[in-house]
Amino acid sequence: MIYLDNAATTRPCPAALDAMRTALEDAWGNPSALYRPGQQARKLVEDARRTVARVLHAARPAEITFTSGGTESDVQALYTGAALGAAAGKRHIISTQIEHHAVLHTLQALQAQGFTVTLLPPSAAGLITPQQLADALQPDTCLVSIMFANNEIGTVQPIAELGALCRERGALFHTDAVQAAGHLAIDVQATNIDLLSLSGHKFHGPKGAGALYTRRGIALQNVLYGGGQERGHRAGTENVPAIAGLAAALAQADANLPANTACCLDLRQRLTEQLLAIPGTHLNGDAAQRLPGNVNITFDGVEAETLLLLLDEAKICASAGSACSAGAVEPSHVLLALGLTPAQAKSTLRLTLDAANTAEEIDTAAAVITACVQRLRDGVR
Ligand code: PLP
Repeated sequence: MIYLDNAATTRPCPAALDAMRTALEDAWGNPSALYRPGQQARKLVEDARRTVARVLHAARPAEITFTSGGTESDVQALYTGAALGAAAGKRHIISTQIEHHAVLHTLQALQAQGFTVTLLPPSAAGLITPQQLADALQPDTCLVSIMFANNEIGTVQPIAELGALCRERGALFHTDAVQAAGHLAIDVQATNIDLLSLSGHKFHGPKGAGALYTRRGIALQNVLYGGGQERGHRAGTENVPAIAGLAAALAQADANLPANTACCLDLRQRLTEQLLAIPGTHLNGDAAQRLPGNVNITFDGVEAETLLLLLDEAKICASAGSACSAGAVEPSHVLLALGLTPAQAKSTLRLTLDAANTAEEIDTAAAVITACVQRLRDGVR
């Protein structure tokens, strides 16, 4: 199998598996309990909190709350910004048209509660400019939520400039860093990030494990009510194995960041060059300001869903610029926001690479895709 869908999820790394096994076998006590097995579990959770805080350059471990994943972190961050805004009489939120649905659908729910939402359009290359944000900020803007890196086209936004603007204009700044954490250097203090979401399974950790960074002094709004875990901000007995696995994977990704980045950039170039050599192909998203492992390409006149089936037969895993919802293939809102037509969006493939991929895998995938595109264009299935 050649796995080129690392933006969807990643294979858990040995460090994460070890940490999870240890937590399951040796530290299975309830972290809220005072006896020894409970305290062993508590130690794993607090060690994990320190690791995540260190990697994000947070000021204090207490600024990290563990959640069930990127979705929950996003929802809690947005509800927090909205609640603080409402308390201060501010009900305007700024985000972008290319956010993940975890953000967009939560914003729809907040709109139904009386918040006004401005969604900034990206450039044709998938970027948001600081000037766009400056123009959209209003005196009653309570929250700005702009993703660090896009999950489909991989574009990396100018987070430091956006964060500085929010700080200057008195709006909270949340960034969905689910695709960035473990893949790009993040410094929440230097870039004025107030709230940041990440998810374990995007950097070789387990699924169902996430974290929310919240700058000290910002009162988190609960989305789950119950016990007093996570300093009362997130009820429910901690998923200790998942938390330990997330932290182990993040530490590993952080330690290997320069080497992994260099490797992915080489592989990305290799794949992009071979695919763009096919006539009628276009790279989506800025060529430079993008995640090291992201390749997103439109093949004119080719149905990506069918292409994916052919690739699956050849044991190549990738994903398309469309999603099956309610039985129909819907073009990606991200690609439409860039100005692609629905037909172009449905002719788009996302290939997301990992440092564990080899040059041989890339060459094989490129050759298979080239042949399949030709076959589909010739009308042969
Ligand atoms: N945000 C982005 C940018 C994502 O890519 C994803 C997952 O694909 C999520 C949020 C949701 O994360 P999770 O699957 O951990 O809920």
